[in-house]
Amino acid sequence: MQKIFIILFLLILGAECFAFDIVYPKKNNVVINAKSAFFIGSSKTPFTINGKNVPLHPSGGFAYVVDLKEGDNTFVMQSDDERKIYVITKPRIKTEGWTSPQFKKYDAQKTFYVITDKAPLRSTPVESGINRMAHLQRNILLNVDGEKGGLYRVVLGDEKYGWIAKTNVKTADENYVNTPAKLLGCDFEEDNEFYNFIFHFDKKVPYEISEGEKLSVKFFNVEEGVYSKDFPYSEITGGKKLAGYGGEYLNNDFIWKIRKPLNVNHKKPLKNINITIDAGHGGNEFGAIGCLGDKEKDINLSIAKFLENELNKRGANVVMTRDDDIYTGLSERVAVANYTNSSIFISIHGNALPDGLNPNEHSGVSIYYYYDEAKPLANVLINSITEQLGINNDKVRQASFAVVRNTNALSVLIETAYLINPEDNSKLISKDFQKAYAKAIADGLEIYLKESL
Ligand SMILES: [Zn+2]
Repeated sequence: MQKIFIILFLLILGAECFAFDIVYPKKNNVVINAKSAFFIGSSKTPFTINGKNVPLHPSGGFAYVVDLKEGDNTFVMQSDDERKIYVITKPRIKTEGWTSPQFKKYDAQKTFYVITDKAPLRSTPVESGINRMAHLQRNILLNVDGEKGGLYRVVLGDEKYGWIAKTNVKTADENYVNTPAKLLGCDFEEDNEFYNFIFHFDKKVPYEISEGEKLSVKFFNVEEGVYSKDFPYSEITGGKKLAGYGGEYLNNDFIWKIRKPLNVNHKKPLKNINITIDAGHGGNEFGAIGCLGDKEKDINLSIAKFLENELNKRGANVVMTRDDDIYTGLSERVAVANYTNSSIFISIHGNALPDGLNPNEHSGVSIYYYYDEAKPLANVLINSITEQLGINNDKVRQASFAVVRNTNALSVLIETAYLINPEDNSKLISKDFQKAYAKAIADGLEIYLKESL
């Protein structure tokens, strides 16, 4: 009897000490539609996949790329005392019969109205990416002259068009005639933080805010055709750089808010600067999973807390979008930054890749901005991080992340390093590295505030 117990005990022990642990793909028998896939995980002992040695990082982590052919692909993982079989299915794709949607012009223009808040008005008929001209609020009236795929083409002026998703609008009453709107007046107000322009219209019209040489707002479908107002920020502020702006309707009044230059104390540049730190993911939203099984949400929060501490020490007023392992929606994160009047917003994430790419060939930090005004900040931060931590510069890029796009602050999203790259991952899980990372961000912020504002 005792013997049986011992054997059972050994069996249980054995079952818990896997030689290798696969964290991605998350389960067996998955469908992956790419030319290649990868296995991410860790192992205590050498092992092979389909007879080939899997190179192991000193931390035990690995990222191993396998080519996929159409149909079922079987992978046998073998170590001295363990064998696992994975099947990845690549779907057979029928390319015949699919044609890209064509533009269909209507005989006469139709009037639509927006049925949701923050409906993206786009410059091209593509429903993703950095082609957003504005976010339109409910009840803005639009003249539409055609459609392509899932989008309507919105007439904004002579030869000037925008695109809006069909799901964001409804047709107005057939007899409704959308006459051009009247601009009834314009006011200018200043408070401690913002320059505010208030445009009084008799109805809501579509608009676009752009940052070129000058910051400007354009209103379409008004009596003048297009009404535009420039704000020469740099001239007015004596060469200072933009530090966040936004615009939205309150009834039929459009309020254009432009943040005044930050009051930077050159000895203590971060003193009294309102900063929101956003630790990505949380709760049941894990984010990426690292080679050794660590979750992105935990690494993000840990770096965010080190950064909070570092910035507080330097006198900043810091707000966290979450300081615990809880789910936090994207609009809640934006609301925290906007309601606390943060002039800087920093979102902390860890990077991963889609199948088809090789995690061993991608490493280091990338920083994303949406508005041009935040690009110089992203550049200063990436230089500080790569110089201090010696990690790869994986570039500053423009992208349309909701948290970065919807905050009235200088907003960037930092992909700190790649959790699925074994070398990056081994660094990311080290508390010393996380702390040094926070210091590099704080130093970068100080350099930016001193030099640019
Ligand atoms: Zn993330």
